[in-house]
Amino acid sequence: MINAPKPSGSIPDRSIYERRESVVRSYARAMPRQFGKAEGVWMHDDQGGRYLDFLSGCSTLNYGHNHPILKQALLDYIAADGIAHGLDLHTDAKAAFLDTFEDVILKPRALDYRVMFTGPTGTNAVEAAIKLARKVTGRELVIAFTNGFHGMTLGALACTGNAAKRGGAGVPLAHVAHEPYDGYFGPEVDTAELLDQRLADPSSGLDAPAAILVETVQGEGGLNAASPEWLRKIADIAKRHGALLIVDDIQAGCGRTGSFFSFEEMGFTPDIVTLAKSLSGMGLPFALTLFRPELDQWSPGEHNGTFRGNNHAFVTATAALGHFWSSDAFADDVRRRGALLEERLARIAAEHGFETRGRGMMRGINVGSGERAGAITAACFDAGLIIETSGAHDEIVKVLAPLVIDDALLSAGLDILETKIRDAMADDYAVAAE
Ligand SMILES: *Cc1c(COP(=O)(O)O)cnc(C)c1O
Repeated sequence: MINAPKPSGSIPDRSIYERRESVVRSYARAMPRQFGKAEGVWMHDDQGGRYLDFLSGCSTLNYGHNHPILKQALLDYIAADGIAHGLDLHTDAKAAFLDTFEDVILKPRALDYRVMFTGPTGTNAVEAAIKLARKVTGRELVIAFTNGFHGMTLGALACTGNAAKRGGAGVPLAHVAHEPYDGYFGPEVDTAELLDQRLADPSSGLDAPAAILVETVQGEGGLNAASPEWLRKIADIAKRHGALLIVDDIQAGCGRTGSFFSFEEMGFTPDIVTLAKSLSGMGLPFALTLFRPELDQWSPGEHNGTFRGNNHAFVTATAALGHFWSSDAFADDVRRRGALLEERLARIAAEHGFETRGRGMMRGINVGSGERAGAITAACFDAGLIIETSGAHDEIVKVLAPLVIDDALLSAGLDILETKIRDAMADDYAVAAE
C-alpha cells in the first residue's frame, strides 16, 4: 500500500545546505531529502518519493497537510485582500477566531479563559504564562518536571529538562526547580506526595512557587503520560500552596489525546493553559496563553510583540475549529483510533519485551536505546515512513500520525514499524551471536 520512495537516480546538487545553512539543523539530518509537496498524510520529495507522515510536524499537523477546507479558507481570505498583519489590531479574522473559540471550545467545556495572543511559537506562550504567574503571585520560583519540554527561549528553556538543550543557554537557567514527574521513581513512589511534603516543610529549601508547569503527556520527554489522579493532586497542591497551575498543552492539546484539551474530564481546571502547534491547523505559527479572567493583570502593552495574532492563522484555525470541533464526532474517532494504536503498539512491544508509552494518538515504544531507535526510524524512512524518536536518550520511537489518518493507512504505517523493529532486533541478535 505504501510505495517505498524511488531509489534516487542522479541527485541534484544539494551542497547549498552544507555551504549556507547553519549546522544547528536537526530533522533534516535524519531525513536527508528535499520535500516539495504534501497533502493529507503524505509528503513528497523531489525525486518522486512518497512518505507517510507519522511525525506531523511534532503534532503541528493534526489535521494532515494542506487540509482542503483550511486551505480554501486561506486562499479565499488572501484573494479578498484580507489583513495579513495588523499587530494586535482588531480584525475580521481575529473576531471570527475569538467568536468560534468561545462558541466551539470554551462554552461547551464551561471554561472561562481570557485569550492572550503571544508571539507565534509555543515558547512565546510559555514565556507569557510564567511571566504572568510571577507577576500575579509576586513569587519567582517555577516548578517544572523531569523530562519536561517547554521551548528554547531562556524562561521556557529554564523549565526544560534536557541537558543538551539547556547547555545552549550560555547563562545560568535559574528560578526553576525540576521535580520528579509521575512515575519517575517507578510505580511505588507517589511523586506528588513528595512535592507536597517538601512544599509544606518550611525547612525543605524549596521556595514557595509562583507556578507549577506541567505537560499531561510529555511530548519530547518520552511520551510519559501522567495519571489523572496524579494531575489532580498536582492541581490541588498548586492551589493549597498559592501557586498557579500551568498546563503546557502545546503538543498534547488540539485533539492529540482524544479531546481538545488534554486535561478534559480529569476533574481539575488549570489556571493557565498554553496552546500552539496544531492550533492553526495548517502549520502556520500561532500560539495562545489562556488564563482565568482574574489573572488578567497585565498593563496594556506590558508583554508585547510584532507578530501577536497571525491573521492567516486565525483564518485556518477558525476553519479547523468549525470543521473538526463543532460536534463530538471527530474526538470520538480520534479516541477510537487511539485505542487501535494502543492495541497494535502493545502487540509489537510484547514481541520484544518492550514497553509502550503515551495516551490517545500520542504513543510510542521504548526500544531500549537511542541507537536502536535511530536505526529503526532510519529504516522506516527508507521504507517511506516518517517517524521520530523522543525521550531522555531518544530511546522512544514515537507515533504522531495525523489524527485524520484512516485506519488502513495507520495500520500500513505500523506494519512498516513492526517489520523494522523486528529487523533491528534480528540484527542485534546476530551481532550478539558473533
Ligand atoms: C513544541 C513544544 C513547545 C515549544 O514550542 P515551539 O513552537 O517550538 O516554540 C513547548 N511546549 C511543548 C509541550 C512543546 O511540545
